[in-house]
Amino acid sequence: MQIKDNFYHIQGIPLTSLVEEFGSPLYVYDADKIVSQVNLLKQAFATVDLRIKYATKALSNINILKLLRKAGTGADAVSIEEVLLCLHAGFEPKEIMYTPNSVGFEEIQQAVDLGVMINIDSIPMLEHFGTYYGNQVPVCIRLNPHILAGGNAKISVGHIDSKFGISILQLKHILKVVEAYDLNVAGLHVHTGSDILDAEVFLKGAEILFDAAREFKDLQFLDFGGGFKVAYKPGDIATDILDVGTKVSKAFQEFCETYGRQLEIWFEPGKFLVSESGVLLTKVNLIKSTPASTFIGVDTGLNHLIRPMMYDAYHSVVNISRLEGPERVYTIVGYICETDTIAADRKLKEVQEGDIIAIKNAGAYGFSMASNYNSRLKPAEVLIIDGKAKLIRARETFDDILRHQIDLGI
Ligand SMILES: *Cc1c(COP(=O)(O)O)cnc(C)c1O
Repeated sequence: MQIKDNFYHIQGIPLTSLVEEFGSPLYVYDADKIVSQVNLLKQAFATVDLRIKYATKALSNINILKLLRKAGTGADAVSIEEVLLCLHAGFEPKEIMYTPNSVGFEEIQQAVDLGVMINIDSIPMLEHFGTYYGNQVPVCIRLNPHILAGGNAKISVGHIDSKFGISILQLKHILKVVEAYDLNVAGLHVHTGSDILDAEVFLKGAEILFDAAREFKDLQFLDFGGGFKVAYKPGDIATDILDVGTKVSKAFQEFCETYGRQLEIWFEPGKFLVSESGVLLTKVNLIKSTPASTFIGVDTGLNHLIRPMMYDAYHSVVNISRLEGPERVYTIVGYICETDTIAADRKLKEVQEGDIIAIKNAGAYGFSMASNYNSRLKPAEVLIIDGKAKLIRARETFDDILRHQIDLGI
């Protein structure tokens, strides 16, 4: 989103005109931004055999998946439904990594039948896999390196008390299972959490992974997961991806030399690829002064963007209806019957009813975490591609609220 000739736009299309055309609230994504993030990542890891597995859960519209596939990524799926969605969007099975947690074995079997790589994250499941498939199906193992990283406790998944991965402290046990079932371990994986800032954390994870990797002889790849931090507020430091790329690539190459073979290096970015591409546009319904604050009530809420309430996430907000005039301090709240603060104590160009507020960085974990809470409809989604605005998901209607309900005629 940028300013030009006194209006906010994406690829030259005024954002306020999109609300007139498609209604409010509205998710809008910039295809160019997504592709440029892919290219930046490729540039950062140009000297190694990089494979990008886009974390589907961040934003799973099939057009976004197709766009990313065209840009040269594979996909990381965390449910069988996401696997099916990725296949539907045109990814080859071999381009998809399936990283389940706490799923039944039938789901693993279904994924194996579909031909995708399975990333196993518990010893009992590894044993189950071994009993069933032996060395017939290559497999990846998700390790928990116990590195404390990630911006918020809820998105930090590598700590000692995390449910994810097999503890690196259990490596001996893993090796016994691998030997007992003659498993074909094609990859090792770590994903320590979201919002990882710097190269040092990645390098710490890498060193642990390298040490473990020397114990496995059939490896094709090492997967470092996702978690690159993007800037949410002015002055925020984002992960310096070129710095991470240079340092991790160098360490990886040194590892490959000692391992004796060139391996692929995989990453599974979600936020990094799609967060900044997206804005959530919402209309101001109400301006309400209380003794302590001036609230702006908008026509969206935690049902459409849960990150502020769930992760204390900071999203920049802009009044895109006004470029001139004085600024005032406001707290933007949603229309859900629940404390539903989107942005507290922010300076905005003086707001009037009917103005459109843009909530920035809404591409990742925005629509994909949306719900129908309060029996509200989910918003429409628009993709700006080749300078044109395309509707990629219709706004829900009241029929969608009733669709799966069964009326007993009571
Ligand atoms: C969520 C997730 C990711 C993506 O995390 P981001 O912070 O969006 O980059 C990658 N890998 C796995 C296994 C995940 O669960």
